[in-house]
Amino acid sequence: MIRREISGWGRYPREVCAMVQPRHPKAVPVALSELTSAIPRGMGRSYGDSAINPDGVIDMRGLNRMISFDPDAALLVAEAGVTLADVIAAFLPRGFFPMVTPGSKFVTLGGAIAADVHGKNHHVDGSFGDHVAWFDLLCPDGEERRCDPQTNPELFNLTFGGMGPTGIVLRAAIWLRRVETGYIRQRRIVAPDLAAAMQAFEDHPDSTYSVAWIDCLARGASRGRSLVYLGEHARIEDLPDAQTADPLRPRPRALRQVPMDAPPYSLNRWTVSAFNAAYFRAGSRGPDHAVVDWDRYFYPLDALRDWNRIYGRKGFAQYQCALPPDTAADTLAEMLEAIGAAGQGSFLAVLKMFGAAAPDRPMSFPRPGYTLALDFPISDAALRLMDLLDAMTRAAGGRLYLAKDSRMTAAMLRLGYPEGVAALAPWRAPQLQSTQSRRLGL
Ligand SMILES: Cc1cc2nc3c(=O)[nH]c(=O)nc-3n(C[C@H](O)[C@H](O)[C@H](O)COP(=O)(O)OP(=O)(O)OC[C@H]3O[C@@H](n4cnc5c(N)ncnc54)[C@H](O)[C@@H]3O)c2cc1C
Repeated sequence: MIRREISGWGRYPREVCAMVQPRHPKAVPVALSELTSAIPRGMGRSYGDSAINPDGVIDMRGLNRMISFDPDAALLVAEAGVTLADVIAAFLPRGFFPMVTPGSKFVTLGGAIAADVHGKNHHVDGSFGDHVAWFDLLCPDGEERRCDPQTNPELFNLTFGGMGPTGIVLRAAIWLRRVETGYIRQRRIVAPDLAAAMQAFEDHPDSTYSVAWIDCLARGASRGRSLVYLGEHARIEDLPDAQTADPLRPRPRALRQVPMDAPPYSLNRWTVSAFNAAYFRAGSRGPDHAVVDWDRYFYPLDALRDWNRIYGRKGFAQYQCALPPDTAADTLAEMLEAIGAAGQGSFLAVLKMFGAAAPDRPMSFPRPGYTLALDFPISDAALRLMDLLDAMTRAAGGRLYLAKDSRMTAAMLRLGYPEGVAALAPWRAPQLQSTQSRRLGL
């Protein structure tokens, strides 16, 4: 066991935690029994305090074996520490891709299940949990239980979005999607304001993927101006000749690294506004249609290693809310106005449309409507602004995403997830806790 200062992706908060890294599923119950309390941790890509606990962190990255693959059913069985990057590296060359992926491929299957992650295709394909056949869960009592919709259904459903306290996922079976190529047929729509961006989503409900990058600091008539990207998996006939020779293996991108923490003075209302305006201008030029490789389309941020250092040593918080369809337009406008007025906005904000909620998975974040996500470098002013955004989310009947959270109150959680919090209560165990679950009484 070692003690090390760790954090989530937002680098706020940080805590010195006792850490163990089991290399085999049989070593996980041993680790759990030796710690007073612990939380499993995958790649640490959740932003806040979901995967930290000073008493114990079980680093699941050592459980990274693929176990079996049935190509007819497109069903992969793998250990919980396998990442989506591993899955893509192994299976895209064979014509398979994850059904649902978040905006980073550096997430583990365990982390994807615990957060019930969503992608740019929630409105057509639901979230990660919709494509999980079963998983084996090590429960706080030390017993391993197979969970699927028929066997231990309550545990199965509550583990999605519950962020760890129900148990430790040891291995899981997930369905993959068949693809002909590793490319995406992308269409860009330049939306001059928020209403146009939302209209672009509404006009294309059948588009498999859709996402908008919003300039959250533009004000006045340009408030909410966005670049909306729609996408479909490309077929071989969609590819330019040069890419047809090896369509499932696009050339990998070079990784770039942020060399050091950004100094505090480098990020202010003017530099961030200038960056966002330049991004919007650059993105507005060029063709409306393009064929781009999977890595550029799904994971633009992964190309910049350690990009979380851009926000400086104090770290940052990501604010992500889900808003119902009837209140989303007014609330988003109100939020962008408040963010612009405070001058606290991040490098771009992301807007997505959500489809139906998962009725059986009460801790799952997505619900019909829209979700907005944006980063704030930690400061007193940013924390005050996020409190104001909380009030708007509450008034709209919305809720916040636990995978991004480092600061919401227990009352805010209960308002957003009344059924989930009540259903989880009997499963709470002192052995499995994170700093987040303690803060929220989850
Ligand atoms: C650049 C970027 C873009 C992102 N985009 C999206 C997005 O589009 N959509 C989205 O939904 N999310 C998104 N996320 C968030 C990310 O997908 C989730 O936070 C995911 O849970 C991270 O997985 P991880 O392996 O890093 O888990 P960690 O961050 O290490 O842990 C997250 C939670 O999972 C639990 N956990 C981890 N392993 C296990 C296990 N084996 N058994 C039980 N519980 C476990 C932890 O206890 C913790 O509560 C993004 C994150 C980044 C950094």
